[in-house]
Amino acid sequence: MIQSRGVAVQINPRWPAGVIPYYIEPSFCLYPKLEINQKYVLFLFIADAHRHLIELAMKQIEENTKVDDKSCIQFKRQSQYELPYVHIVNGTGCSSTIGQGWGYKRVMLEHSSTSSCMDIGIILHELLHTLGFGHEQLRPDRDSYLQIRWENIQEDKFAKFKRYEAQQAYDLDTPYDYGSVMHYPLDAYSKNGSLTMVPTKNISVIVGQPFNLTSIDILEIQRYYQCVPFGSTTTTTPKSCAITCSTPCFFIFTLVLSILEMQL
Ligand SMILES: [Zn+2]
Repeated sequence: MIQSRGVAVQINPRWPAGVIPYYIEPSFCLYPKLEINQKYVLFLFIADAHRHLIELAMKQIEENTKVDDKSCIQFKRQSQYELPYVHIVNGTGCSSTIGQGWGYKRVMLEHSSTSSCMDIGIILHELLHTLGFGHEQLRPDRDSYLQIRWENIQEDKFAKFKRYEAQQAYDLDTPYDYGSVMHYPLDAYSKNGSLTMVPTKNISVIVGQPFNLTSIDILEIQRYYQCVPFGSTTTTTPKSCAITCSTPCFFIFTLVLSILEMQL
């Protein structure tokens, strides 16, 4: 069904049975680059603590999307030569292609002296791209919920605010979700510090909150991967994996390591 609501996009197919093989690049590596005259790009390694944080985010998605204790989404380490799969690297910026494709899908999670994507909200955001979801503020119906302040947006970033056409997005029959982990913050890509998006409805949530999936994010995943009947009104209260998916000691260890690295 293709209508004007819902943010999942149909560029690439879903991952069969909701199973996503992944490989987290542990070492320095050279990869072919697409630009002419620049043959290779160097990716830095992903530290153990960050690998654990990425897997924690995966667990958070798995746990929150279960239906009657049955898995809807499963991330599993890639078996040798298994294709397609998601290759997670310490590249440039935070980015992911959308949905499943052929070969390998690359997720960039930079952690360098100048920038870091090693934040649970950012990782959840990129993993939802991998599952097939686009940005909430690009929904075809977003103009009913947001006023875009083009005059405040950096000119070279206009394309990031171009909403999807109706035929590009599946109808997941979910309401617009200001709090979605897939929503940009209201000052995203501002050139002057002023807001680039202004809500046109009363809201009581932090827009683009960077902490966890919302119950609407969860329902969209469950519907897109056909884990609940389409008309289902099931609502899942999001759980944080700091408590539910790992031992507290491990989480604190990861947090301490992150703080130490930030101070270096
Ligand atoms: Zn994104």
